[in-house]
Amino acid sequence: MEYQDLGVVPVVSAQANSTPLGGCTLSDGVIQAMGNAARFHVDLDQLWRAAGSCLADVTGSEDACPVTGAAAGMAIAVAACVAGTDVSRVQRLPDPGDQPNEIVLQKGHSISYGGAPITQMIALGGGRTVEVGAVNETLRSHVAGAVTRRTAALVYVTSRTHAVHRKGVSLDELVAIGRERGIPVIVDAAGESDLRGWVASGADLVIYSGPKMLGAPTAGFICGESELVAACRAQYAGIARPMKVGKENLMGLLQAVREYTAVPEEERAAAQQVRMTKLAARLDELPGLAARVTQDDSGRLIHRVLLTIDPASAGRSAARLAEEMTAGVPSIYLRDFKLHLGQLEVDPRALDPDGEEAVVRRLEELLLDHSDARAGEEVAR
Ligand SMILES: *Cc1c(COP(=O)(O)O)cnc(C)c1O
Repeated sequence: MEYQDLGVVPVVSAQANSTPLGGCTLSDGVIQAMGNAARFHVDLDQLWRAAGSCLADVTGSEDACPVTGAAAGMAIAVAACVAGTDVSRVQRLPDPGDQPNEIVLQKGHSISYGGAPITQMIALGGGRTVEVGAVNETLRSHVAGAVTRRTAALVYVTSRTHAVHRKGVSLDELVAIGRERGIPVIVDAAGESDLRGWVASGADLVIYSGPKMLGAPTAGFICGESELVAACRAQYAGIARPMKVGKENLMGLLQAVREYTAVPEEERAAAQQVRMTKLAARLDELPGLAARVTQDDSGRLIHRVLLTIDPASAGRSAARLAEEMTAGVPSIYLRDFKLHLGQLEVDPRALDPDGEEAVVRRLEELLLDHSDARAGEEVAR
């Protein structure tokens, strides 16, 4: 069965790896690891523990538990903090019974991942979110004041594109509060590339998504302190059962992590920067577009092509251009985080050379056609 048998056409993602666009494409090595894994039966419990210790080595944590993705990871991590390993508690979730179940979350971290809110994942794990502070300002005292005997965990979201970090409580401060009050800290590090720093910050559980940065199939993992990770695993006899990771995706994840860590981040970023610099030079020639390479706003080693659209000479707004890019064949998704500024971006992380050519070709079609039409109008006048 192929996508085309279903009338489904592959799309080009110039907005990095996102779950709605099918996560990431896989290397041959990862595809092979998944195919090999699919040929044998194994004792899943043994496989999971071995995978956990492999991921623990990579992340510098005590242990790790595979999950289907970061959203599942949040539900499972919360469940672990609420129910622990006690089977009757595990199997009563999302009803927490008489266990502490409040999850303290800064308002600026109460995010939605493409539609699904983090608070719902917390509820699925038996937690009740207690939001503190304001969207644009949360103080340490807001968090500390919300911690009571009912508190099960503190949650922190690392993402700077989703969460508001300006005037928020830092992870170091949150870890300090957690330590002082004996409350675990859960970190949503879904799209992070740093596999060691968040664990090293002292957080108790750290959640990663496999497809976002690591080149893995639909999968992820929770790593951290061994007793809490054991409690995460225990949830597979409860709410995590409908979110289980199969052996194929798990082996694909491990292979992807191995390949990912074999290349230093600086090297990967430098290669992307070279590609984006060449792409920007080509796109900057087009009428109605100013193209230049910019580094990620939060200082990550990601270099994108920033396209500033001049609606008068491009003949359309940035929003219209984005729509026309997705409406074409192939359908191309540009990054639209700066759409309100009249800007679109080309993100290199999910784009191969064919994808880059598709971006150039389609922008040429749209913008050169328009400028030809305008030149024609001027001649006619
Ligand atoms: C994408 C994302 C998630 C969800 O990850 P999945 O692996 O798709 O479940 C959670 N948190 C953040 C910050 C994300 O960016």
